[in-house]
Amino acid sequence: MQLHGKTALVTGSTSGIGLGIALALAEAGANLVLNGFGDPTPALDHVRATGVKAVHHAADVSQVEQIAALIEAAEAAFGGVDILVNNAGIQHVAPVEDFPAERWDAILAINLSSVFHTTRLCLPGMKQRGWGRIVNIASAHGLVGSAGKAAYVAAKHGVVGLTKVVALETATLDVTCNAVCPGFVLTPLVQRQIDAKAAGGLSPEQAKHALLAEKQPSLEFVTPEQLGELVRFLCSDAARQVRGAAWSMDGGWTAV
Ligand code: NAD
Repeated sequence: MQLHGKTALVTGSTSGIGLGIALALAEAGANLVLNGFGDPTPALDHVRATGVKAVHHAADVSQVEQIAALIEAAEAAFGGVDILVNNAGIQHVAPVEDFPAERWDAILAINLSSVFHTTRLCLPGMKQRGWGRIVNIASAHGLVGSAGKAAYVAAKHGVVGLTKVVALETATLDVTCNAVCPGFVLTPLVQRQIDAKAAGGLSPEQAKHALLAEKQPSLEFVTPEQLGELVRFLCSDAARQVRGAAWSMDGGWTAV
């Protein structure tokens, strides 16, 4: 129970990768603040079944004042945030000249600016308590580009850059900041891209294979459980000197 007594806040943790990470941290003993849209009951039940305490706050992380309310709720429930996992994210695929300006603004707000706001609000408490771990869920698209994903690629490159700055500003403390860069994970965010391919006449299995074959040499999806294990490691004492990293878990995507 390496994280017993710690509190973890995972944004966007009612489903997908965020829930996988929340479960891994709960299994290590951390109390959890979940966040995200939809009915939180299944995620809360799942996390509480590990024996830790968990609450949910429905803040929309595109709104600065709602982020402040989320951090305040975490402090009220558990006394502070020791582990901050910035995971909430959305996607939109379109060529630059057709990219809706409103989608650009939303992706930058949710995928990048929210990371700045949660970090600036949680860091003072981490410094005061002398311990903290910040893990930002970036993407292979934080390291390389793909056609059609202007806002997502720009935001995720921004997350990798922000991660380096926060790591340098906390370098002499037991507070670390790292990014994780997953390849394709089979979540609703990616299922929508598979459905778009299947609409072109492929079977669901062919569409999955086609998506992987474009980018991911292993031809297998990364799983939320694998990402949870990596985040748990980054929160451990053994990872104290891992600082400012952009850690790939992408089936070889960025090795080519
Ligand atoms: P998902 O769509 O399954 O889950 C996203 C979560 O974020 C949900 O809980 C949703 O409710 C929440 N969310 C969305 N908008 C929000 C908002 N404005 N405020 C608060 N919560 C909000 O997505 P996922 O695939 O699990 O993605 C999680 C993270 O991993 C994202 O940052 C994504 O960019 C990143 N990522 C995903 C993949 C992949 O292949 N799925 C690959 C690399 C990186």
